This record gives sequence, structure tokens and C-alpha cells, in this order.
Amino acid sequence: MSFRIRRTLAPLAFALLASQPLLAVPAPTPAGATGFRLGTLQLFTLRDMNNVVPNDGSVFGVGVPTPEVSKVLQQAHAPTDKISLSVDALLVRMPGHVVLLDTGLGPKVGGSLMASLAAAHVRPEEVTDILITHSHGDHVGGLATSDGALAFPKATIRMSAAEWSYMQAKGSKGLVETIRAKVQPFKPGTEVVPGITSVPLPGHTPGHSGYEIRSGSAHLLDIGDSAHSSIISLAKPDWTIEYDGDSAQGRTARKALLAKLAASHERIFAPHFPYPGVGFVEKSGDGYRWAPALP
Ligand SMILES: [Zn+2]
Repeated sequence: MSFRIRRTLAPLAFALLASQPLLAVPAPTPAGATGFRLGTLQLFTLRDMNNVVPNDGSVFGVGVPTPEVSKVLQQAHAPTDKISLSVDALLVRMPGHVVLLDTGLGPKVGGSLMASLAAAHVRPEEVTDILITHSHGDHVGGLATSDGALAFPKATIRMSAAEWSYMQAKGSKGLVETIRAKVQPFKPGTEVVPGITSVPLPGHTPGHSGYEIRSGSAHLLDIGDSAHSSIISLAKPDWTIEYDGDSAQGRTARKALLAKLAASHERIFAPHFPYPGVGFVEKSGDGYRWAPALP
């Protein structure tokens, strides 16, 4: 996902969001940290920002008549003129590791992640590992401070090798150089931190990865941007979303993942679903619906 930023921030938006489309002016989002246990692990969902996009075919339901998109929103008792998304990150505490999954838009664009991290009683220098789902600005922008320094100076930054290549080719040059020495790319499917395994989900970007977090019999999948709207992406997984780099591959990956999640009843974290973004995907008619549920 990415955002249309007001005129004064436009150059910054380009720097942060690279080849991404732009988004509506985000309202300041209050900090938020929602803690829950997964086995022996302590997790927190961290708020960064809200993003509201118009229901005009520019992002959701590309090529679909707007009244059809409105009907889906109406059936979910949601406003029909706009689609509200959250931008959240996930934190996992375990012995020896403090792991952050994605970093929000960053302080230059007014992201609240650092305040949310403080609300979880974590200092940036305590973060040991950062796992990136993909290199869009709303996931990597928070890797840098407003001065362009490393926001998490002691953390190793992990992303798939394909995503790191993509980021170096298409991402912000300044951010790429800021993080270069800290990046350790991985082969998809690798266990990147004890108990956290990367899951290849290409389509949204070439090296887009989910992360499976396990503790004993408890597990949760961070699906990254495999689905954006808890309403439209689930009810109509076939519909093209403008944010997907490869819409056909994105659609195939989304449909396969949603079918698997509905069958397995695996709990997920979705960074753009309504905060705190934790719950289940359930089958509903021809598509799916969101069932929010913290453990
Ligand atoms: Zn996103």
C-alpha cells in the first residue's frame, strides 16, 4: 500500500514510496500497542497510521463499476464512499531477540510507530532483528530517522534476496544506502529468527514474504500485503488492486492464501486490516470474511 501525500511532502513521498502510487492525506494517528501472548512469546501490534482511499476505482476494484464495489462495502455495513485501511507493524519479544516485523511509514511522514513502540516499553536500540515483508514505503519508511540515520541502530534487517534486489533497483536511494550495511537477505522459506520462518508470497512485489511465528503449538502468520482491505480483498479476492506490482500473480497468491487460511483456520496478522489486525479468515459465499480475534 502507499499514500497520496500533500503537495509539500510530495518529494518526500517519492523518496519514500519509490514507484508506488500516492495516497490521501493521512490524519495523525494516535500511538497504540496491543499486547498478546502466542505460546511463550509476547507480541504487540503497533499502530503507525490510518489510510483512507476513495472508492473511485483508483485503488480497489480496478476495472470494476464503482456501484459493485459500493455494494460489497454496504453489505459489510461500511461507508461506501471510501475504504479505510490501517498501517500497523508487529513486535515479537523472545529470549535473546526483540523482533520488529515492518516499520511503518516513518517519522518524515508522521508515522506513530516510535510512539507505539514506546507504549510497548521497547527502546529502538533494543530491537535486534527487523523482518521486512516488502520494500514499499509504508513498510520500510520507518527504518530511517527524520535525519536519515538508522532508526534501529543495533538491528539486523532481513528481507528476501529478491526483495532486496528490487529495493535497490526501485526504492529510495538514500534509504538503501542508510540500511545497506545492516541488510542480510535470505532465501525464501528460511527460518530467519528462532521460531520465525519466512513464507514466499510473491505478486504484490517480486520478493514479498510473509512470516510464520511459532511457539509450541501456537502459531500466527503475518501475511504482509497479500490482502489490503479486510472487506474488499476478502469478499472479492479476484478484483485487481492497484497496489499489486504484478496484479495477476498477486491475485493468484491472494486466492491461494485465503483458501488455505480459511481451511486451516490459522490466526493471522494483516498490517492493513483494522487495528490491531489479528484474527481469522473465514469462508463466506463465493469469497471470505474477516473475523478479528486476539488470542
Ligand atoms: Zn502496505
